[in-house]
Amino acid sequence: MKPVLNYINGAFHPALSGQTLETVNPATGEVITTVARSNADDVAAATAAANEAATSWGATTMEERIAWLERIADALEAEAETIAQLESLDTGKPIALARKVDAARSVANFRFFATYAKEQPEVTFADHGAVNHVHRSPVGVVGLITPWNLPLYLLSWKVAPALLMGNTIVAKPSELTPLTADFLAKSLDRLDFPPGVFNLVHGYGPEVGQAIVEHPIIRAISFTGGTATGKIVAATAAPMFKKLSLELGGKNATVILDDAPLDDIMDGLVRASFTNSGQVCLCGSRVLVDSKIHDVFITKFVNAVEALQVGDPSLEATQMGTVISKDHQAKVESYIRLGLEEGGTLLTGGTSETAPVTGVSQEGAFLRPTVIGGLDAACQTATEEIFGPVVTVHAFSSEDEAVTMANATEYGLAGSVWTADVERGHAFAKRMETGIVWVNTWLNREKGGRGR
Ligand code: NDP
Repeated sequence: MKPVLNYINGAFHPALSGQTLETVNPATGEVITTVARSNADDVAAATAAANEAATSWGATTMEERIAWLERIADALEAEAETIAQLESLDTGKPIALARKVDAARSVANFRFFATYAKEQPEVTFADHGAVNHVHRSPVGVVGLITPWNLPLYLLSWKVAPALLMGNTIVAKPSELTPLTADFLAKSLDRLDFPPGVFNLVHGYGPEVGQAIVEHPIIRAISFTGGTATGKIVAATAAPMFKKLSLELGGKNATVILDDAPLDDIMDGLVRASFTNSGQVCLCGSRVLVDSKIHDVFITKFVNAVEALQVGDPSLEATQMGTVISKDHQAKVESYIRLGLEEGGTLLTGGTSETAPVTGVSQEGAFLRPTVIGGLDAACQTATEEIFGPVVTVHAFSSEDEAVTMANATEYGLAGSVWTADVERGHAFAKRMETGIVWVNTWLNREKGGRGR
């Protein structure tokens, strides 16, 4: 594969320093290609281009920008299979998942914002004899920084609204997964998208991400990533009074009430726990289950988890591929060992040494889906984000105790409640100090879903 270059002012360039880094296939350990290893100089060049383009792009009409989003969506949709293949190669996620989630959502994100814009009414209101008109103006140059778990999905989620509102962009994908961001740049280039409106700078977070956050001309930052990095981003951007959007980590509770129809919900529970090898910020990594059904739940859950097809991401039947890298595998394994040190019992799975995945490259970052029981709900393993295929299970003896356990975390991103009684589920969900709670479903964002 050709080297991945920066995209600045409508042209592809190597890093100004000439430096490169490598992107690796996590299923084999093989180098896929080299990537521009940029620094603050490249960010400065990209920001200058974005600033230059801001006036003309900001002066386009909403209708023109909607037409661009639709054109981009059409172009990505026509190449959906290529996107899925690149994403699977770069992340180690199963090709079926990359098609269904990553490729489909990246297209849908552009379509969603095009439709959203069409549905916005003009807002005017009378007040004390005067008429107020609400105008939405572009911010200017915005910095978009994204992680490796859902690379184009999360990048497109930022790019589409930024373009729609007339902003110009300096974006940085995770250096672990640059391929689909590069593909987006190439797609825009083929469409003769106006130069300078979308700029892409590859490289490491502290070298490129930090330079984006620090750049005085960049007036808004949208960041998705880990909480520790989010703190650094906030500490840099806040004193500069930048607009800031942070989507950070999660340690989400999956709560199973005593009336839950276990056989019917088992697929949903396994999906909530292990989608993308547990590397979704919304994955339920703490399963809280009523003690009355705990034992029968464990038997059914472990059976369902062991039935997951773990292996080569390029095979159609594979349901779980690798984690993102060997380094991340080591981090996840350290949590499995910590869980055992903290008194947990391994119900299934384990480290690559104790429970190896067979029939795959030994250089691949494979792990079996792992379930740990018997841990105190307040221990480190049960409260820190692992971001891998590891779930802890905890029994509760009353709903009050379940609420206390669900809320005993610094994270409050998402959660789910499973019960035969939807009203009961909603009542429980309201007691969770959590941004989004699904009832009898998980990661359901389509219209008609039963979540809240
Ligand atoms: P990181 O926080 O390590 O990195 C996220 C992005 O920030 C990467 O592009 C990274 O670059 C960059 N970065 C690193 N340091 C800096 C810095 N000082 N200034 C600016 N940018 C920087 O997250 P991961 O990539 O490891 O992603 C996993 C995390 O993302 C998990 O914690 C997960 O929960 C969270 N996440 C949250 C979501 C949400 O919507 N709430 C959705 C998806 C993931 P580089 O890769 O080069 O280090």
